[in-house]
Formats: sequence, C-alpha cells, structure tokens
Amino acid sequence: MQCTEVKTKLADYSVGLLNERERRAIQEHLDGCASCRQELRALERVDRLLDAVPLEEPPAHLWQSIRSRIEAQPQPVRPSFWRNWFTLPRLALGGAIAATLLVALAYFTAPRPPSDEEHLHADPSQLMQTHQMMSWGDPLSDKAALGALIASRPHTQEVP
Ligand SMILES: [Zn+2]
Repeated sequence: MQCTEVKTKLADYSVGLLNERERRAIQEHLDGCASCRQELRALERVDRLLDAVPLEEPPAHLWQSIRSRIEAQPQPVRPSFWRNWFTLPRLALGGAIAATLLVALAYFTAPRPPSDEEHLHADPSQLMQTHQMMSWGDPLSDKAALGALIASRPHTQEVP
C-alpha cells in the first residue's frame, strides 16, 4: 500500500472504522513507514483535543427558528390550467392550428348562395351548378338538386 492511499484512510483507522483486512494492511505499512506514523500521531493529537471540548447541545429553539425560516420562504407556484395548456407538446399545438386552418379554409371556400343582386345577372347554369354543389351532401333530399345532377350527366337516358 502506498503512503498516499494510507494517508487517506488514517483518520478512519484511528477511530476504528476500517474492516479487518484494511486495518491489517495499514498496520503493516505503519510498521515500516515513519512518515505515516507521524501523520497518525498528529491525527490522534487532534482527536484528544476534540475529546477535551465538551459536547454542546443545540438550544431547543434553534430548530424552531430554522423551520420557521424555511416555511416563510415563498412556495413554488403550481402552474395554472392555462399555463399547462400552452406548454403542451408542440405536436398537439401544431395539430390544433392545422385543424383550425382546415375549418377556416372549408368555411371560406364553401359555395355561398348568391345574393339577390347576383341572381339578376347570374348565368342560370352557374346558379344551378352552385345549387348542386351546395346540395352535394344529400342530393336526394332536394328535387332540384337531383334534377340538376341527372341533367349534368353527359348521356342522360329517357325515363320510360
Ligand atoms: Zn507511508
């Protein structure tokens, strides 16, 4: 065992904290090393000096004082619902934005019924086309839409 390693364990050795194998290895080293023996004597002198100082019990109010100072410190604020909402993963936020854009796109590009002014000047076939597009969701519920759908087919057969 080298002196540097022995010196890191001398304090534990002096108070009997080492296991049997380590204690024996250090004892063997000390038998042949004056420098480490001198270090051990210095440690034992410090131990004796410390033993001479009476242990002092901390005053009873000390813990109360520390505890009240800990409790007086501001507690971390729990994040609010809205803060949680805005710190959701970016993927979810991106999805919400994309859905909003789709709804807005559908709203602004959906066919609108022409105003009265437009009715007067509009091409009838264009009006029919608009009506047909608006009724696309359920053409069978609207006879005009159904008729427009049949009429728009390229090879309409006569119904017997
Ligand atoms: Zn040594």
